[in-house]
Amino acid sequence: MSLLVQKYGGTSVGSIERIKQVAGKIAATKRRGHEIVVVVSAMAGETNRLIALAQQISEIPAEREKDVLLASGEQVSVALMSLALKEVGVPARSYLGHQVRIETDNAYGKARILSIDSSKIVQALKAGEVVVVAGFQGVDENDNITTLGRGGSDTSAVALAAFLNASACEIYTDVEGVFTTDPGICRNARKLARVSYDEMIELASTGAKVLEIRSVEFAKKYSVPVHVRSTFSDAEGTWLVNEEESMSDVLVSGVACDKNEAKITLVRVPDRPGLAAQIFGPIADAHIVVDMIIQNASEDGTTDLTFTVPKADCKKALAIVEKTLPAVHAKGIKVDTDIAKVSVVGVGMRTHAGVAAQMFQALAREKINIQMISTSEIKISVVIGASQTDQAVRVLHDTFIEKQATV
Ligand code: ADP
Ligand code: ASP
Ligand code: MG
Repeated sequence: MSLLVQKYGGTSVGSIERIKQVAGKIAATKRRGHEIVVVVSAMAGETNRLIALAQQISEIPAEREKDVLLASGEQVSVALMSLALKEVGVPARSYLGHQVRIETDNAYGKARILSIDSSKIVQALKAGEVVVVAGFQGVDENDNITTLGRGGSDTSAVALAAFLNASACEIYTDVEGVFTTDPGICRNARKLARVSYDEMIELASTGAKVLEIRSVEFAKKYSVPVHVRSTFSDAEGTWLVNEEESMSDVLVSGVACDKNEAKITLVRVPDRPGLAAQIFGPIADAHIVVDMIIQNASEDGTTDLTFTVPKADCKKALAIVEKTLPAVHAKGIKVDTDIAKVSVVGVGMRTHAGVAAQMFQALAREKINIQMISTSEIKISVVIGASQTDQAVRVLHDTFIEKQATV
């Protein structure tokens, strides 16, 4: 008998009908003799609805209270799923994050899982119950409720699979697996049978929201076999695996885009040692993740400093930067939220040069202006105007994946 962790995302539990459908699916798996821990997200749209409620009260809501609010979405789902399971004759028990003690640090809104006390879960499994755990939430050492960041139920599921030593973590979602790009944008996107942990980390960090990045980091660290697949079909999905030799034959394995970042520019700051530390130190202290940074020395001893942050943190970042403005002698701040990051990812880039040049040529042919560029060993990202995102994704998918460009 093997233990499976199954995670069902927002669309999969988006209505009572769907919850009943998923309960039937879980019951069938249980009849095949598996022990099952189910992790559920809030019903589709619920987390956004809750965020909007908080914003009607406060522009930058107090983080502790916001987490208490957001965690309620998953509380509804675990209860409904357990009821649906009982209704089809499967003994089930729901748990919230704090009840099974999914302990996290205290970074509200983006907390990291530190430990899970699996004793209650193991006990319930032994008693023949399906255990339904609320995704996306935990508790810090002082019993404050925390949430893990958008898409965080993926991380809850993989972490539970790691701590319980499950035989696999199945991520059930509204697409059949991980595709070469978002199938909602490009209809020629192909399902990948396997994707390496490293490629998936880059795809997730560049916007492929099919898996949340920390879930993939967790999976890699603890070698959790993760299978991404559809709730609505029995088709084999995508397995996350260690890098295989044949993978580097493929230059680019995926194209991703992200419209959730904003660009902040500090205009004409003095070009002197310590300045970047003065600006980015307080931003890091506020747990804001800065993605791309561009700075170029100029002739008159000043420079524009441009960086990107998640849109959700933009107001908070601006408030912090504004405070440092007089000390850093910047001439002003500019903000642009109308941007998108488009990236190509592939382990083949480690051994092949020229991908960047081809990428820039393809974008130039479409008259897409590049505002920022960043690269890693297996990824190239560009920031462009948001209105050209889908066009850029399609042309890059066409260039690197459909035509299998070689360099
Ligand atoms: P869930 O609610 O199940 O967690 P998400 O909406 O978070 O589902 O993630 C699934 C969505 O991710 C898909 O509907 C798809 O539009 C999007 N997506 C983006 N990039 C990819 C990709 N490379 N492969 C598959 N899906 C992708
Ligand atoms: N409900 C949370 C969100 O919408 C977590 C998740 O769905 O994974 O981001
Ligand atoms: Mg998700």
